[in-house]
Amino acid sequence: MNSEIDLLRDNILQCTKCDLAQTRDHVIFGEGRTDAGIMIVGEAPGRDEDIQGRPFVGRSGQLLDKILNACGFTRSEHVFISNIVKCRPPANRMPTPVEAEICMPWLLKQIELIDPKIMILLGATALRYMAGPDHRITSERGSWLILNNRLTMPVYHPAALLRDPLLKRDTWEDFKIIVHKYRELVDPKHYCRYV
Ligand code: SF4
Repeated sequence: MNSEIDLLRDNILQCTKCDLAQTRDHVIFGEGRTDAGIMIVGEAPGRDEDIQGRPFVGRSGQLLDKILNACGFTRSEHVFISNIVKCRPPANRMPTPVEAEICMPWLLKQIELIDPKIMILLGATALRYMAGPDHRITSERGSWLILNNRLTMPVYHPAALLRDPLLKRDTWEDFKIIVHKYRELVDPKHYCRYV
């Protein structure tokens, strides 16, 4: 499987299929275990990610790491992190439906190869592009969805938590559910000091 992932990485890193290729510095393939039990999907790389070539390295990423660590998860051991689109939209705007549609096959191939037991969708944009335009993060966060036969949990995007810290309580409740499911499906001995 690793060679398939390596081939996929090579292809994604050379991709020029949509207009975002014109303005990016880096293509952000993703990061984490390529056989992770959990796959996390965000919206798009931002400025810090475009500079460094890694996903979720700005303030949102630091908050995501804090949440993961509170759950006993690390990027290197438990998760793979990617985005709906692999290149930064200019001025950190949302990816357009056309950009998301063009890039989506890359993400779907990543999901197929990594084959996570649990998917986490970060924020409204990831939810809408993965599940459909009628889905709403405010009403669906914290509930399991089945997308392409895969258990999927939408949660608020860390950027939303930075804008409105009151959302952190709900998000922690959502991640506690995820920890329990991880123990059920991936590792019954998973250690988390808080859950
Ligand atoms: S956003 Fe996706 S489809 Fe567009 S150039 Fe980057 S990798 Fe290719």
